[in-house]
Amino acid sequence: MAMTPETKLSTPRNDLIRRLGSSTFNYWFGYVANVALVIWMVGHAFAHGTILLPWGKALALAAIGLLSWTLSEYLLHKYVYHVWQSFLSEGHDLHHRRPRDLIGVPWYLTTLAIIVLFRALNSFFGSSSLGIVMGFNWLGYILYCVSHHGSHHWAMGSGRWARMKRHHLIHHAYPEFNWGFTTRFWDRVFGTYAERPPTGARPSGSGSQSPEASR
Ligand SMILES: [Zn+2]
Ligand SMILES: [Zn+2]
Repeated sequence: MAMTPETKLSTPRNDLIRRLGSSTFNYWFGYVANVALVIWMVGHAFAHGTILLPWGKALALAAIGLLSWTLSEYLLHKYVYHVWQSFLSEGHDLHHRRPRDLIGVPWYLTTLAIIVLFRALNSFFGSSSLGIVMGFNWLGYILYCVSHHGSHHWAMGSGRWARMKRHHLIHHAYPEFNWGFTTRFWDRVFGTYAERPPTGARPSGSGSQSPEASR
């Protein structure tokens, strides 16, 4: 039987991934879990309402954490969602095919991963400094989640938001380009930036949205 996109979508494995990651509760509760994780991590820099670091150092670490998210976003999207094949890349493939469906990584997996990573790195760095860097890095993830949701569900007006949306919708149509989301910087650095649909390349996996939908 010829494998159409629709038949490929409804394999038992895809159905399990869809059940794990596409419940409306999972999608929205992920925000609650992620905000709680940020508070938990940043909370390591405080004791009895007092910050344990000089404010200047805390602000510098917060900026490092937030900015480092943009690189995390690029690398996680490229490798975890596209290059390394797993249930996560299959879940992301579902998102490429159905960009408006509420599909998210199961909230308990990201929560567990962050807690294990924090505990592991805590052996090497002070928990107050690590809490601020990782907390603000994860705040970047939350901001990405909101913006990414907007790119598939909201008009996003004009200017920077519209450019961000168009950048991402080009990725949906041409998945080898535009792995960054909140900034185009890393795509420029790594040579994967496409300002417009590349000439000669065939669109794939654009689902129900095309780059033209960003206008
Ligand atoms: Zn998307
Ligand atoms: Zn993708």
